[in-house]
Amino acid sequence: MSEQNNFTKEIKGFLIDPKIFTFKFGCQCNGECCNYGVFADLKEAEFILGIKDKIIPLMDETQEKDVSKWFEPPEEDEDFDSGVAVGTEIINGKCTFLDKNGLCTLQKLAIIEDKHQWEYKPMYCILFPLTTFEGAITIDDEHIDRLNYCNKSDVNDLTIFEACHDELKHFFGEENFAELEKYREEYLTELQIGVEKNGS
Ligand code: SF4
Ligand code: SF4
Repeated sequence: MSEQNNFTKEIKGFLIDPKIFTFKFGCQCNGECCNYGVFADLKEAEFILGIKDKIIPLMDETQEKDVSKWFEPPEEDEDFDSGVAVGTEIINGKCTFLDKNGLCTLQKLAIIEDKHQWEYKPMYCILFPLTTFEGAITIDDEHIDRLNYCNKSDVNDLTIFEACHDELKHFFGEENFAELEKYREEYLTELQIGVEKNGS
């Protein structure tokens, strides 16, 4: 994770790691990140269990239909709204909600129901390769580093902010996202001034 002790900007209750404005990132593989499952907030896990009857019929033979095997035991974690995190179980080498074609069943359900594609997904699924850590929006570099294909190409033209534009907008909402964009402009301008000063 990135160091967070010098982050100054706070939006929607989260500090912003400015590294998200410069770190290059490309999303090119077929969802290797889902092979490790995800930590969901306890409330998100309860919500998913509440719609189990819609999820189970969409699962294939590689997925577990016994809902008692979908989640790991809850554990305390202050990075989650309810203060409790619940990991999705790994079944057949992938998140219990990932089907044999590499599709998330929660996303599949939302699309079938003509809802927003992320309606049923845990927030950390939506955010990755970004995450929250100790109250800051930052880069999930630990998870990126342990994956075989994630961001391993040298030809990434986009920053992680640009690559995750829609996800950040979804997370922050329109108004707060506009503030994030403004902060980005200010930060990059200051960075450029610093480069010019040091170069002169
Ligand atoms: S975020 Fe990384 S691991 Fe996940 S699909 Fe994109 S490149 Fe693959
Ligand atoms: S819930 Fe869906 S998006 Fe999240 S890790 Fe599992 S399969 Fe991937």
